[in-house]
Amino acid sequence: MCKKHETVSPNPQPSATSSPAPDATTAGGSPGVPSVAASPKKKKPVVDQTAQVIIFCYHRLVDKVRYPGTEITPAAFEAQMKELKDRGITVISMQDLLAWKRGEKNIPPRCAVISFDDGWKSQYEVAWPILKKYGYPVTMFIYTEGVRGGALGGGEAITWEQLADMRDNGVDIEAHSATHQDLREGHNIMLASTGGKRTRAKLTGPQYEQWVQNEVVGCKQLLEQRLGIKVNCFAVPFGNYNEHVKELARNAGYEAMFTVYGQPITFTSAMDSIGRYAIEANKPKVFEDAVKMIGAPTSGGAPVAEVGAADLATQPADGETARTALPLIKANLSAIGQIEPGSVQMRVSGLGVVPATYDPKTGTISYQVTQKLREKSCSVFVTAKSQGKKVEAHWTFGIEESPARAVPTAAQTPKK
Ligand SMILES: [Zn+2]
Repeated sequence: MCKKHETVSPNPQPSATSSPAPDATTAGGSPGVPSVAASPKKKKPVVDQTAQVIIFCYHRLVDKVRYPGTEITPAAFEAQMKELKDRGITVISMQDLLAWKRGEKNIPPRCAVISFDDGWKSQYEVAWPILKKYGYPVTMFIYTEGVRGGALGGGEAITWEQLADMRDNGVDIEAHSATHQDLREGHNIMLASTGGKRTRAKLTGPQYEQWVQNEVVGCKQLLEQRLGIKVNCFAVPFGNYNEHVKELARNAGYEAMFTVYGQPITFTSAMDSIGRYAIEANKPKVFEDAVKMIGAPTSGGAPVAEVGAADLATQPADGETARTALPLIKANLSAIGQIEPGSVQMRVSGLGVVPATYDPKTGTISYQVTQKLREKSCSVFVTAKSQGKKVEAHWTFGIEESPARAVPTAAQTPKK
């Protein structure tokens, strides 16, 4: 049914997104090495885990900017779309970004995702034609009461019919709450009744829970029911949320949550705080900075083939909990195939590159940790060159002994 996310539109950049993934399954090629890579499990594609994605968040396009905090001119917008193309940054859909994060789909090394917030009709009338011209996919983050006819949807608001038209043409439509307010308990909010009357309130307890439920869950249900779609992304209004809101969103089935705290998205970026760059007329540098963050076309380096940690018989195993903060870390690289001597490197989170020992005869790389690991979990990255290609494996294990205090999550930068 809900196939709307499967990009109904003609894939805008078929050559870029379908470029063959580097093939890491070269096991069995080396003499004397048992073939262990022939996995009986369903094979996942080899995804480039070094790819980076920047996400842009736009609001209104207007010829005369009066609110530079949320508006830019169509000309400026088009210039930015062109610049992405000129710089060789591939615009991918949000769903492709998520598929890459799940390890299901490869993406080009340097990508951008375009999103529009709040549902203004200029997004339909002005932005969309420009996006179509470039063949760029787009995601719309909609707050449901802000759609035309809703308690907050005036004459400049997008209509449900326009959203349906976008949906039918492959546009990804996602949630941005019901009334676009600070979702944390005890904050001043405005309650709009159907009669148009607005009252200020500071909700707590069960009243708050009921309200926030509608903002996070009700909004998703309404979008899904009105448009017959599946909604799996939630853009947090102003980027203001907390653990409770995150939990509600997770329980509601959102796969990803977005803020306006722009940063390049990597394979390991947390799914509940994906930063987007908000592009505003009075801050032209934001776009330039974002584009620079994912580097020059030449600096991306060769694609990296990722090898599953399970194929390397790692020790400690992926997901295992070590009972010491001084573990012996080991992996068997035989599955990778022939390895260029001297190319093997091990990195350990909290330690950086470590002086690991590689035995070419057994294909084993090992390192005895000599300095107590201080975090509750430890990630190991092993890289090597095989037949001219860079191959990488990484895995994470837990450490039981560590008494380290929980690190607070990064503070959100409120916006607007
Ligand atoms: Zn918004």
